[in-house]
Amino acid sequence: MTAAPHLTVVGAGLAGSEAAWQAASRGVRVTLVDMKPGRTSPAHREPAFAELVCSNSLRSDSVEHAAGLLKAELRQLGSLLIRVADGVRVPAGSALAVDRQAFSGRVTAALREHPLITVKEDLVEEIPGSGVVLFATGPLTDGALFAALTRRLGTDGLAFYDAVAPIVEADSINQEIAFRQSRYERGEADYLNCPLDREQYNLFVRELLAARRAEVHGFEDRLVFEGCMPIETMAARGEDTLRFGPLRPVGLRDPRSGRRPWAVVQLRQDDAADSLYNLVGFQTRLAFPEQERVFRLIPGLEQAVFARHGVMHRNSYLRSPGQIDVACRLIREPRLRFAGQLTGVEGYVESIASGLVAGINAALDLLGRQSSFLPGPETMTGALLHYVANPTDRDFAPMNANFGLLSPLAEMPSARGRKQRREERIQAQVARSLESIRQLVAESAAFPL
Ligand SMILES: Cc1cc2nc3c(=O)[nH]c(=O)nc-3n(C[C@H](O)[C@H](O)[C@H](O)COP(=O)(O)OP(=O)(O)OC[C@H]3O[C@@H](n4cnc5c(N)ncnc54)[C@H](O)[C@@H]3O)c2cc1C
Repeated sequence: MTAAPHLTVVGAGLAGSEAAWQAASRGVRVTLVDMKPGRTSPAHREPAFAELVCSNSLRSDSVEHAAGLLKAELRQLGSLLIRVADGVRVPAGSALAVDRQAFSGRVTAALREHPLITVKEDLVEEIPGSGVVLFATGPLTDGALFAALTRRLGTDGLAFYDAVAPIVEADSINQEIAFRQSRYERGEADYLNCPLDREQYNLFVRELLAARRAEVHGFEDRLVFEGCMPIETMAARGEDTLRFGPLRPVGLRDPRSGRRPWAVVQLRQDDAADSLYNLVGFQTRLAFPEQERVFRLIPGLEQAVFARHGVMHRNSYLRSPGQIDVACRLIREPRLRFAGQLTGVEGYVESIASGLVAGINAALDLLGRQSSFLPGPETMTGALLHYVANPTDRDFAPMNANFGLLSPLAEMPSARGRKQRREERIQAQVARSLESIRQLVAESAAFPL
């Protein structure tokens, strides 16, 4: 009798735990390696696997929210971690929040009890020389392994620090206020410009300075000041600093007044489908609700829907586009695979989704199946993997699930108001996505188990 094929999963966080379970459920022997409990990252504290390092919320459970749709897809796809989360939920309105100890405890027990999974405590410092290996060591990948990955992928292949500006959905920007123009009208009119008069600017700066900041973890203090400067830190240098910096209005004329505004916030297209815009120069450490409150004071952004909030934190991730494919394989050495936040998805549920797809594909390849398991870009799971894999000329930064990532509808909604059009679009995208996952499960060689 030949032994079942073997997969090593390094990292038993959210992605690695899900990946190990998915591969083992399909008949692959898995060795799941984690440095815990002997060694922990600066954010991990518990000995159990699938630790939620901060909030105990897996965000909205309503399909009209991106994280809710992602969870609905993962339920259809048989995710272990979402099933466990559903079983240990605590009251949190429309969000799925969990008892974190029970969550990690039950996931750990399921993995330890699985007959095809062997758990091993080990600090992995090198890339194993043979075998199929899936790395899911997360945003705080331990030092020596990070260095080994950097040697293998090149210094351009990995990033260590994340300083990203918020991104808003294009159809939530009021384009009767925001005007399209390039500075001095040089080249294409690629930017959307939100004009502020003196009073609006002063109010914005005042609220920016008063806004609550996100908690800084001790191990991140030093990095913040080595990275580029948060907009609120810049604003604190003087009332005109932003007007002479990222909000400078020179070379811009508001077509409605024919005059140069007092200050201008520029928005730059962030995706090929033209559905997302980032706020240029707005890297920030404000708490997420405060970002929404303060940045919606900018004329044109009053109703902005935030696809991604600004963050500045330590975050190890691969510059994945062009290096890994949608099945989570390193293109030039497919025995090496990656999942979770290390690939450039951001968030608990996103990491679970990435682990699920990586685990299923590792199993299919090891079992010699010819097909891959590839949810399409019309699904939230597939859209995240396409975001991670597809090379574009944008600066790559980790991304949460959001509706702007989904492929555009063949027919755009026709409702009259902007808000109604968005609601109609989202309903159509949700229906399309869940149907696509249903079909994939019905037709894929990866199902039923
Ligand atoms: C401080 C902080 C707060 C966060 N708060 C939130 C939040 O509130 N909500 C949210 O959605 N997301 C949050 N995130 C993001 C969240 O961590 C990730 O989205 C998610 O945990 C990533 O899952 P993962 O499986 O990729 O990595 P992790 O869950 O981090 O798992 C990685 C695993 O790899 C192990 N490991 C690392 N290096 C090695 C090595 N060399 N050898 C062996 N094992 C190793 C670790 O011990 C760990 O168990 C936060 C991240 C950080 C750093």
